[in-house]
Amino acid sequence: MAYQPGRQFLQIPGPTNIPDRVLRAIAQPVLDHRGPEFAKLAAELLVRIRPIFKTRQPVLIFPASGTGAWESALVNTLSPGDRVLGFDSGQFALLWTQMARKMGFEVETLATDWRRAPDPAAIEAALSADREKTIKAVLLVHNETANGCMSRVAEIRAAMDRAHHPALLLVDTISSLGSADFRMDEWGVDVAIGGSQKGLMLPAGLAFCGVSEKAIAASKQAKSPRCFWDWEPLLANTGGNFPYTPACNLFFGLREALDLIDAEGLENIFTRHARHAEATRRAIRGWGLEIVCAEPRDYSQSITAAFMPDGHSADSFRKLVLERFNMPLGAGLGRLADKAFRIGHLGDTNDLMLGGTLFGVEMGLVAANVPHNAGGVMAALSYLAERSGEAGRIAA
Ligand SMILES: *Cc1c(COP(=O)(O)O)cnc(C)c1O
Repeated sequence: MAYQPGRQFLQIPGPTNIPDRVLRAIAQPVLDHRGPEFAKLAAELLVRIRPIFKTRQPVLIFPASGTGAWESALVNTLSPGDRVLGFDSGQFALLWTQMARKMGFEVETLATDWRRAPDPAAIEAALSADREKTIKAVLLVHNETANGCMSRVAEIRAAMDRAHHPALLLVDTISSLGSADFRMDEWGVDVAIGGSQKGLMLPAGLAFCGVSEKAIAASKQAKSPRCFWDWEPLLANTGGNFPYTPACNLFFGLREALDLIDAEGLENIFTRHARHAEATRRAIRGWGLEIVCAEPRDYSQSITAAFMPDGHSADSFRKLVLERFNMPLGAGLGRLADKAFRIGHLGDTNDLMLGGTLFGVEMGLVAANVPHNAGGVMAALSYLAERSGEAGRIAA
């Protein structure tokens, strides 16, 4: 391919752009992972990661992508044949239920039309109907990256409590952690699952499981075979005794990313993401396209999916935008394949990057002869300009 000048706009919902400071932090000579310096770094990070999950409980770190933490959550809390409740509410929620089935658990799924987050009332009904209390866990995705719908975890927790059901609440927060408010302890989440390459602004390679006391107690009874994903050695790890080689250099990156998060402030980061999400929706409405998430209270703060008009291929549109403007957009996944495209607005992003992204989409709509209204970009820019006082401040 010919040289394309300028930076690529990586606006997929993960992996996300990595700040230069984080890249530089990763580019360090390797440390002995059994030596005192690494032990000190890891011990510091095992504590500093907790406020990102809003928890005081242990957060375990695996050298893996987020999918590994899904598996870890299942095998440490469940025994073969256990029943779980999952959701057919988007591609990631669905993949997690498929994993659970492959691993021999009995999965009951509640379906949505993939345009809204799981309904707390439906969860309450399903758990209330389980009079024998045989459902051992609820597998919830906080932010469904495939359709841009965000679950209301606090309401789901309240629904589980109303049903007086003891099931564990396992929550995938991979594409919301560090982008949208997530409160592991307050919301009574038993296992909170994270990954490094989305809101945390790192390469893929660190998977996280925040684990509650109840989840740890369940892990002592759970009979699923496990080795690599076993929590026991990690719960005993104080920093220098991971049971295998940790992703050492990503720990340097994580320290730098946490410094950046501290400097901006977690709540300011959430406000920035909320502004960018709203600006993106205004652009999509301005173009006359339809937002996939049909329920405003379920809107995601980190990714927005838009339907292509009937008869137009989202994949051809994305291909054209990539080739002409050097901007990858997220593909429609699963049943949204070729019907929708996704804009990621999470991680290390500012107003001008979002503006450039939306500009690229609007130019793409023109170039691909997709019927649309001009001015989506202007609608977004007006909104951002009006609220520029909320823009992220420059990190100290
Ligand atoms: C990205 C993502 C995953 C998969 O994580 P990997 O790091 O790619 O294994 C799972 N769930 C959600 C919600 C995601 O956004």
